[in-house]
Amino acid sequence: MTNIVPESARIGLLQPASVRGRLAPSPTGYMHLGNAWSFLLCWLSVRSKGGTLVLRMEDIDPDRSRPEYVDGIMRDLEWLGLNWDEGPDVGGPYGPYVQSQRYDRYEEVIRQLQEQGHVYPCFCTRKELRALASAPHAEDYGAAYPGLCLNLTQAEREERTAQGRNAALRLHCGDHSLGFHDLLRGDICLTWEECGGDFAVRRSDGVFAYQLAVVIDDADQHITQIVRGDDILHCTPRQVLIYHLLGKPAPSYAHVPLVFDHEGERLAKRHHHFELRMLREAGVRPEAVVGYLAFRAGLQPEPAPARPEAFSHSFMLEKVPPVRVVLEQDIINVLSSL
Ligand code: GLU
Repeated sequence: MTNIVPESARIGLLQPASVRGRLAPSPTGYMHLGNAWSFLLCWLSVRSKGGTLVLRMEDIDPDRSRPEYVDGIMRDLEWLGLNWDEGPDVGGPYGPYVQSQRYDRYEEVIRQLQEQGHVYPCFCTRKELRALASAPHAEDYGAAYPGLCLNLTQAEREERTAQGRNAALRLHCGDHSLGFHDLLRGDICLTWEECGGDFAVRRSDGVFAYQLAVVIDDADQHITQIVRGDDILHCTPRQVLIYHLLGKPAPSYAHVPLVFDHEGERLAKRHHHFELRMLREAGVRPEAVVGYLAFRAGLQPEPAPARPEAFSHSFMLEKVPPVRVVLEQDIINVLSSL
């Protein structure tokens, strides 16, 4: 087995001289309090080290991304006081900072992975995979891709192509081990079953997969640390594997706890009343949002209104409590009163 844990991340040595972090929203909805929480922690972790912040729009999903969300997210970040040094509006040395403008680059890396023999065409349809998952022996497969197309012969591939079936491209995970070090949660070890097995880097309709695009962008934009929600934690081994196959150093990772409503449901894009633009319309001030979130992160003893820079010198990511944030039932009143 090949160990793909970056040694620098594991032992905390060889920290790059200059920290580069990124805010990487998907413009598939407006920003809510949960996004504000993880972006604030990401922003503080970079600013506290005097680093550089990149804003990157991850509009790779053509069906769900919309220009009005791009504008809305940038407006909400500015409203909160979370600024950036490089991004779609201000440019920078490693642009473009919009994924839909980087398709040629993704194609180039896919070709490289193909030439190295890491990628294979997969003709399975979603329907077939769903049927397999509900078959009597589904537990044998778990939720992971069972590798049906891994060993197709060239003739079988040609036959399927001749039938008009479009292939997705999957990356073969092989027997690489799956550990990585998380700055908040320590050493993480997942099996490929838990991570979904061989995963798509390009869908059968030609859309590039998030796993691939995010690694290429982070590598090209010299990102050294990633702070993001822990809903993405199970994706990280796949991403570390891509770094490994491309021969590039992986950044350090911190997956922060998520935000839930008072009934224990994770905040999602459909929870419109937690959107920052709705709070703004209800008269909530940005200092109230930042001060409240800073309080929940243990950065101040009470939810007093504050600007983000108030915490940027003393902030230490490792001190953020490793527990989910559950909002009060009357959170909007709480915020309005600050
Ligand atoms: N664009 C992703 C999202 O909004 C985040 C990707 C990442 O931080 O790696 O869920």
